[in-house]
Amino acid sequence: MADQTLMDKLVSLSKRRGFIFQSAEIYGGLGSVWDYGPLGVELKKNVKDRWWRAMVHARDDIEGLDAAILMHPRVWEASGHVAGFTDPLVDCKTCKARFRADKIMDAACPQKPSKHPGEHTTCQLTEPRMFNLMFKTFMGPVEESASVVYLRPETAQGIYVNYLNVLQASRQRIPFGIAQIGKAFRNEITPGNFIFRTREFEQMEMQFFVKPGSDMDWFEFWRTVRMDWHVALGLKPEKLRWHEHAGNELAHYARAAYDIEYEFPFGWNEIEGIHNRGDFDLGRHQEYSGKKLEYFDQPTNERFLPFIVETSAGADRVTLTVMVDAYREEMVEGETRVVLGFHPSIAPIKAGIFPLVKKDGMPERADAIFHALKRRFPVFYDDAGAIGRRYRRMDEAGTPFGITVDGDTMASGTVTVRHRDSMVQERIATDQLAIYLGEQLGNAG
Ligand code: ATP
Repeated sequence: MADQTLMDKLVSLSKRRGFIFQSAEIYGGLGSVWDYGPLGVELKKNVKDRWWRAMVHARDDIEGLDAAILMHPRVWEASGHVAGFTDPLVDCKTCKARFRADKIMDAACPQKPSKHPGEHTTCQLTEPRMFNLMFKTFMGPVEESASVVYLRPETAQGIYVNYLNVLQASRQRIPFGIAQIGKAFRNEITPGNFIFRTREFEQMEMQFFVKPGSDMDWFEFWRTVRMDWHVALGLKPEKLRWHEHAGNELAHYARAAYDIEYEFPFGWNEIEGIHNRGDFDLGRHQEYSGKKLEYFDQPTNERFLPFIVETSAGADRVTLTVMVDAYREEMVEGETRVVLGFHPSIAPIKAGIFPLVKKDGMPERADAIFHALKRRFPVFYDDAGAIGRRYRRMDEAGTPFGITVDGDTMASGTVTVRHRDSMVQERIATDQLAIYLGEQLGNAG
């Protein structure tokens, strides 16, 4: 399977099965903005729920937050985004295409044969100029500079400006963290690779506030926890690696930074960043707001500005990663079977329910099972076509279990449960199904 074809196959499967659609497709689409369909919204929500459970509910030292997208414009001056959230942009005067100067070797010149920008004799690249990635808009009825607001390019700043509020309201003590999932917007110069790099996306960020001096220990702690999370999500460990930011790759605010990278069909790329941001953020907000943001540590009678260790992952990017990782094709009885082998906990549908044939009371029995299970699990009823086809449709949607009502069900009260990956079938008593599914999904963590 050629690698680019895998991405093409995923894009078309996503549309066909209702995972992801191009935004406003009937108008020709909007560049690098995507909509999640019935299966996609469940998949992404399950990814976010897993993150929230691991990062908030399972811990007693992290609190949740949902800050607004629009913030006071001074926030973005303090954070450095107004002055410095830029990418170097180059234009080609010949083909009018735009590229990021620092990613030119990842880009393709639109001219044929396929080469990198600048490699054709006809290419005429301009000198790089800096381009701010923040989307600007206006608050209130007047479009003037005094009313400029930005669509946030990251969720982190909403956490920093609320750090004292959360600290006081929750009565946490340092070390503690604040977690948030929310939309971010970046006017990326070269978006692409499906939902890998988009202009509107969701981040899952956690900022951990620590005593200066303990920061590198916490940094190592969170590196381990976050890598383990991706492995527990079902990603193949051999497709994951660390990339250390060294020298001039390190952002101005960072004391240390590592990316978790995944091997996509288009190469190794970042899915999450873990950063030791020192006291840069709180220092800047203290300076720009004029409000003291120090922490008073009662046991030691010390006052200090906490250091921050950040874990920052993209919900859409992780969703793409689980789709790429889960996709496989197998030959079964002379036919290709496409499977999305999702970890059961993130599968959009947990079980398909099928009457073997549309007679002898089987549809009624299957329908009753469907409605009973639907109260606890997202399940799907399907009576259309041959049973083999119905299994295949569920394999493609990543559904871990297929439940079939057949002649024996009517006699013995048992159904066939088929496992997506092994295709092994076993018989389970109808009245045990909810317990069985609960156990199977619970065991899957
Ligand atoms: P890149 O180098 O890929 O532009 P970055 O280093 O700017 O990414 P961060 O600012 O650290 O990324 O953002 C944290 C996470 O947010 C990334 O690891 C990624 O998962 C996600 N993310 C960032 N930009 C985008 C985007 N344009 N589309 C989708 N997800 C994104």
